Amino acid sequence: MTAGRPQNRSFAVVDPATGETFDEAPDQHPDDLDAVVARAHAAWRGWRADHGARSAALRAAADAVAAAGAELAPLLTREQGKPLAESYQEVARTAARLRYFAELAPRPRTITDGRPVHSEIRWRPLGPVAAIVPWNFPLQLASAKFAPALAAGNTMVLKPSPYTPLATRLLVSVLAGALPEDVLTVVTGREPLGARLASHPGIRHVTFTGSGPTGRAVARGAADSLARVTLELGGNDAAVLLADVAVERIADRLFWAAFRNCGQVCMAVKRVYAPAGRYAEVVEALAERAKRVVVGAGLDPGTELGPVSNAAQLARVESRTARALADGARAVAGGHRLDRPGYFFAPTVLADVPAHSAVVTQEQFGPVLPVLPYTDLDAAVDAANGTGFGLGGSVWGTDLDRAEEVAGRLECGTAWINHHAELSLAQPFAGVKESGVGVAGGPWGLYGNLRPFVVHRPRPEA
Ligand code: NAD
Repeated sequence: MTAGRPQNRSFAVVDPATGETFDEAPDQHPDDLDAVVARAHAAWRGWRADHGARSAALRAAADAVAAAGAELAPLLTREQGKPLAESYQEVARTAARLRYFAELAPRPRTITDGRPVHSEIRWRPLGPVAAIVPWNFPLQLASAKFAPALAAGNTMVLKPSPYTPLATRLLVSVLAGALPEDVLTVVTGREPLGARLASHPGIRHVTFTGSGPTGRAVARGAADSLARVTLELGGNDAAVLLADVAVERIADRLFWAAFRNCGQVCMAVKRVYAPAGRYAEVVEALAERAKRVVVGAGLDPGTELGPVSNAAQLARVESRTARALADGARAVAGGHRLDRPGYFFAPTVLADVPAHSAVVTQEQFGPVLPVLPYTDLDAAVDAANGTGFGLGGSVWGTDLDRAEEVAGRLECGTAWINHHAELSLAQPFAGVKESGVGVAGGPWGLYGNLRPFVVHRPRPEA
C-alpha cells in the first residue's frame, strides 16, 4: 500500500433515470493491481490443470447467474437505464454464454507432412487475462470476455466502466460461489486504473471492448509487456433498403435494430439508406414508431426505451444531433432532450441529412437515426462501406437472393438480411477496419485465449 494514500475511496454511481447518485463503488488505486494480478497468477496453476473441473465449475456458474436474475437485473437497470426486461435478457445471455463455453474444448491436431515424426499441436492457456469493458451491456460484454478466457484455462482481472460497476461486482460475487478463489477478480475505479491494468507486466492477454480512441491507448499500453491484444471497438452499421422492401413488414424490426438499449449498441443500425422512390414511406414508418415508443425509467413497467446511460453520452448525442440540424437535417421525430429529470432524449429520426454530417460519418451511440435517400444502389453500398468502421451491416428486401448478393458486398464482420444485430454464441465476431482487432465468439473466442504448443516426436523405427 502506498504511504499517505487515502483509504476506502469510493466514487458515485448515478441512476440515469433521475440523474442522481444512488450508490457508490470502491475507487481502487492502480497500485492495488500488483497484488490482484499476483493472486490471479497464483490461482492460474490450479485452474489450468483440469479441463473437466473447469467445465463443471462453469456450468455451476451459469446456474448461479440464472438463479440470481432477480437481484442482478434491477441493479443493472438502475445503473445503466435499460428496461428491466432487457436486463433480464442480459442476465440470461450471460448464463447462456457460460454454458456454451463450459462445453467447448480445444482440439489437439496431428501434422502429417511425410516426415518420420509424430507432430502434435496442443493448446495451452496464456495466463492472467485483463478484460476492460464499457457500460452499454456490462454483464453480457463481461461474460463475452470471461467465459472463453476461463474455459481456456486462464484467470481474469475484469474492469467494468465506472458508470456501471455495481451489477458487475454483484455478478462476480455470485460467480465466486462456483469458481475457485482469484480465478475471476473485479476491480473498479477511475482512470488510470484501466490504463495501468492494460499495461501491467503480469497480464498475458488484454481483451478490450469500447471506443476506438481508448482501444488505441490500450494497445499502446499492452505493447510495453507485449501481451496479446483483442479489441472490440465501435461500429457505424448501415442498413441498406432495396427497392422491393416491404416497409410495413420490416419497420418494427428495423426501428428496434436502431433504438434498442437507446441506440447504445455497438452493432445497432446507425444509418439507413433508402431508395429515393421509397424514401418518404421509410422515413414516415420510422418516425411514426419513434413518436409512439414509450420512454421512461427502466424500472417502470411499460417502458420501452430508457434514458441515455450517462451525462457525457447524452451531451455527445445532443451535440451530434444539433450539428446535423445545423447542417440542414430535418427532425421528423424528436431532435431534443426531454424536459424531465434524468438523461432522456426523444427518439429521433433525421431526414435530409448531409452525408458529411458527423451523425452519419461517426458513431452517434444514442436514440438518433439518420435516414438517407439513394438513387444508385452501387453508390449506396459505397456509402455504407465509406466510413472507417466495419462491424456489421444489413440489407432489407423481398428478393432474398438479391439481398444476399448485396450483403456480400458489405465490408464488415457480420451481415444480415431483413434483420440486424442478432448474434449466435457459436459464430465468430470480428470487426474490420477501425472496428476491431482479433476474433471473439464461438471456438474462435476460445482459441483467442490459447496458444499453440507443438510437440515433435520421432516415429518408432519401421
Ligand atoms: P470507452 O472506450 O470510453 O471505455 C471503455 C472502457 O475503457 C471503460 O471500462 C473505461 O473505463 C475504460 N478506459 C477508459 N480510458 C482508458 C484507458 N486510457 N486505458 C484503459 N481503459 C480505459 O467506451 P464506452 O464509452 O464505455 O463504450 C462505448 C463504446 O464501446 C462505443 O464506441 C461502442 O461502439 C463500443 N462497443 C463496442 C462493442 C464491440 O463488441 N465491438 C460492444 C459494445 C460497445
